[in-house]
Amino acid sequence: MSKSTLRVCALYPDLMNIYADRGNMLLLEKRCDWRGIGFELTAATIGDEVDPDAHDLFYLGGGQDRDQQLCAEDLYTLKREPLHAAADRGAIVLGICGGIQLLGDHYELGTERVPGIGLVDLVTKRAIDGSRLIGNVAIEVDLPGLDGPRTLAGFENHGGRTHLGPAAQPLGRVLKGHGNDGTSGFEGVKKNNIIGTYLHGPLLPKNAWFADYLLATALQLDPSSLQPLDDRLEDAAHASARRAAGV
Ligand code: GLN
Repeated sequence: MSKSTLRVCALYPDLMNIYADRGNMLLLEKRCDWRGIGFELTAATIGDEVDPDAHDLFYLGGGQDRDQQLCAEDLYTLKREPLHAAADRGAIVLGICGGIQLLGDHYELGTERVPGIGLVDLVTKRAIDGSRLIGNVAIEVDLPGLDGPRTLAGFENHGGRTHLGPAAQPLGRVLKGHGNDGTSGFEGVKKNNIIGTYLHGPLLPKNAWFADYLLATALQLDPSSLQPLDDRLEDAAHASARRAAGV
């Protein structure tokens, strides 16, 4: 049965919010408001319990290595089981940059191993020379329920190289930019409704179509059934992000 309120849980919004990743929440809120869909945002930071059944979408933004290290233990001990339970019942779990890294098995920082929550089969390793993959990026994604491949455009800046394991599928294929590791041509990860990507921007204001895809999926609606909005500004933002990436 479809629901009329999108219930979002933002994980560590105080620590995992680089490049204005919180803008992703604002965009979801506005697109719900404009359609008369309710929007509930709950923050869960260090020490907070998470109810796996109380939210339709769990969101983990990007962060500096230091901030990721601060959250990682709490994420593992307090939130790993509820997040697995939520993902198992079909809730969306969306991780951006530092977020995708913590959705995997672990993030290797030199001799330190930061634990991930193992929702997806991937590991991330910081480059030995400390070099970063930085720049505008565009990827092609083919998502179930949409009429064909679409483009996501954004900005990436990560020292970690993410390697997908055999059980993982990428979110998309790199058109321009570096992607997960700078060589594989893969970007992000997708397993059912668990989605990870390196795209900041923030991601959703630059790709409103993807915000609607997430919103509809979270509410168990067909994306094409959402009320159309006046997206002239959003379309211009998307076109500008694509141009910046060179596609
Ligand atoms: N700290 C991570 C890295 O550098 C993620 C950075 C980010 O979220 N932008 O790889």
